[in-house]
Amino acid sequence: MGTMTEQFDIAIIGAGPGGYAAALRAAELGRSVALIERDATLGGTCLNRGCIPSKALITATHTIDTVHRAAELGVQAHVDGIDYGTLRDYRRHVVETMTGGLAALLAHRGVTVFHGAATDLREIAGTADAETGANLAVTVTGNPVERFRKAQAAEPLDASVVIEAGDVILATGAEPRPLPGIPFAGALIDSTQALELDEFPASAVIVGAGAVAVEFASMWNAAGVDVTLLIRKDRVLSGWNRRTAATLTRELTRQGVKVVKGTAVTRVDTGANLGATVHYTRDGGDEQQVWGEIVLAAIGRDPNTRFDWLARAGVTLDDHGYVACDALGRTHAPHVWAVGDIVAGHALAHRAFEQGVTVAESIARLDPKPVDETTVPQIVFSHPEAACVGLTGQEATADPNLNDVKETAYPMLGNARMLMSGVGGAMTVVSGERADRPDVPVVLGVHIVAPVASDLIAEAEQLVGNRVPLAEAARLIHPHPTFSETLGEALLKADGRPLHTR
Ligand SMILES: Cc1cc2nc3c(=O)[nH]c(=O)nc-3n(C[C@H](O)[C@H](O)[C@H](O)COP(=O)(O)OP(=O)(O)OC[C@H]3O[C@@H](n4cnc5c(N)ncnc54)[C@H](O)[C@@H]3O)c2cc1C
Repeated sequence: MGTMTEQFDIAIIGAGPGGYAAALRAAELGRSVALIERDATLGGTCLNRGCIPSKALITATHTIDTVHRAAELGVQAHVDGIDYGTLRDYRRHVVETMTGGLAALLAHRGVTVFHGAATDLREIAGTADAETGANLAVTVTGNPVERFRKAQAAEPLDASVVIEAGDVILATGAEPRPLPGIPFAGALIDSTQALELDEFPASAVIVGAGAVAVEFASMWNAAGVDVTLLIRKDRVLSGWNRRTAATLTRELTRQGVKVVKGTAVTRVDTGANLGATVHYTRDGGDEQQVWGEIVLAAIGRDPNTRFDWLARAGVTLDDHGYVACDALGRTHAPHVWAVGDIVAGHALAHRAFEQGVTVAESIARLDPKPVDETTVPQIVFSHPEAACVGLTGQEATADPNLNDVKETAYPMLGNARMLMSGVGGAMTVVSGERADRPDVPVVLGVHIVAPVASDLIAEAEQLVGNRVPLAEAARLIHPHPTFSETLGEALLKADGRPLHTR
């Protein structure tokens, strides 16, 4: 008695890429779905404060890059400044169009959205509900909880609603990680705040060497911000193929980003004055300092899993707070699944989509293949972009099931479009033979720095994911003159018959 209860086949907590993809696929498979989201809008980090707003801003700063280069091509053009009001409206318009479109699509598929926070998850005492099979209950708390069905109009319910379901999918995402012992405060901000700044700062110190740090460095630098990038190693993207990472580091430096290598941040003064001062040591030496109007810490993200109700429900976490689960997303609690950034691995939207789809299909007993972590493409939307898929040469060499591993580097300036683009690049193809199929070299990994690497990597993913023999891959025709020919030429070279290269 008292609390309002609703029943669904599946309850999903979190409406980011992992949760909403699971909802869309489950609804398509005929399941009734409750999608629970605490934010006012759907789409999670990706649509609201990640992929989409960052790429909207990057689209704007690419335009600045293009204008800056115009004179070299004989075109007279000049950047007179940035109208920040228009830029903000553009970013918001893109985000609102995407989140609104998502809400409409979910409604169209028949997914019921609950606006409120999941605050409890428990097994229903006794056996499963005889009629519906539901044996899990999620409590949703709101002010009040609102329900959105087909008509998409908000239906206010109680302050607390219980959703009973046969399966629960956890998709609560991640949040920016602060520097160890140094909380975000004042001018020391996270990526969410950085995307919302009214104006680009005159100077910025960025701490980090991953995708988010590099994207902001590239974007702000293009807009004329004095950018200092503090990295721990000797290159950005240090977990990537060395040549790719070194090439991108060099390009950033060439374009004016001050990349400071071998640093460890010791302290950040965010005093009452404008800006913040970052204190750091370099290669273990004396402390140095650098001031920025803004200091962006982008050293990674932590999973949103520190809920006491998760532990009570029998969901276990690893040492870093990621949900412990098998390759199909099954947690230690029966009928509770996990997808997206709360699962250790590549924290990327397209991986979350695929995990969401896979879990929905597992629940529908379609027996899907688990998501293969090694064929998730990784991308950085800097200028030029970086992208990779599959193994690095080092990883492939260390794998006892792979033989005759080869790394083939293609000189990008042999490509006409690369030459015209005015930026440097790199392309490395890793190939080798699998123990179960000797004498048939396959494409194991592709690593790219190029203006459109994020698009080029899609073809590479097909080759790596489908274990395409190198000889067949190298037969594919690439349209001329395009950036995609760089991959074609690299494959030909890897196959021992280079065409436009030596
Ligand atoms: C600046 C930035 C740029 C990025 N750019 C890219 C990119 O270009 N490409 C790419 O692939 N990835 C990018 N990412 C990463 C991408 O955003 C994430 O990998 C993706 O959003 C993860 O999806 P998710 O569903 O796991 O979680 P999220 O998108 O984080 O969504 C989780 C949702 O769960 C909700 N939630 C949490 N707890 C509760 C609760 N108790 N009750 C109800 N709701 C709850 C949250 O409000 C949130 O909406 C970027 C990230 C950042 C920060």
